[in-house]
Amino acid sequence: MRRKLAAGNWKMNGSIPGLDMIGALKLKHPECPCDVLLCPPAPLLTHALQNTAGSPIFIGAQNCHAEEKGAYTGDHSAAMIAEIGATHVIVGHSERRDAYGETDAQVAAKAQAAQAAGLTAIVCIGESLAQREAGDALDVIRTQLQGSVPDDSAADTLVIAYEPIWAIGTGKIPTMAQIAEVHALMRQELRSRFGDSAEDIRLLYGGSVKPDNAAEIFALDNVDGALVGGASLRAEDFSPIIQAL
Ligand code: 13P
Repeated sequence: MRRKLAAGNWKMNGSIPGLDMIGALKLKHPECPCDVLLCPPAPLLTHALQNTAGSPIFIGAQNCHAEEKGAYTGDHSAAMIAEIGATHVIVGHSERRDAYGETDAQVAAKAQAAQAAGLTAIVCIGESLAQREAGDALDVIRTQLQGSVPDDSAADTLVIAYEPIWAIGTGKIPTMAQIAEVHALMRQELRSRFGDSAEDIRLLYGGSVKPDNAAEIFALDNVDGALVGGASLRAEDFSPIIQAL
């Protein structure tokens, strides 16, 4: 049985005062019906960990370098994220693939580094609007999944997030049938690669998840939670999404 996951990706948003939302979340969800994860920007990770101490809320980073250490100004390694007590890292978000040209192979290397450091890697994949309109969405998903997920991944340190690029921050979401189709494909691809353990890999949907659409999305087969952007910044938005799980 896969435990559901409500993950918040703050992107380059948030501040130390903004971490007060964690206190509000803790009050609303002293015991989480699912796993809850927040991924604030790297400078806020330590503060966020202090705020979540003694609560079931997990803290993760939004990126890591594939190497353990070295002359990579501005980067941080998976081991550094693990050392401070964070447990997850997002890799291959479409914003990073787009802005920094991250390739599937680089994303796989980051995911592998994350898993080697004891972190859970949340590997993001998703098609562009042009790819969706050209009828290529499923092929794109298959290729990205194949290329971005390390071969030796264990189910408990791997989460896949399907985030159609055109649904991110736009208020548009795919139809429920489209989400279900992609999630079924991902499960099938993972099964053919990892066998029975693929049943334990959590598959998140991301892209304009809000309190008013969360329940419908979460009711779909093979949707094990969400990777939430904008609606994870405030407890009053994120809490009903957690509740919907
Ligand atoms: P929004 O929920 O703001 O659309 O962002 C989704 C996302 O990119 C999460 O990683």
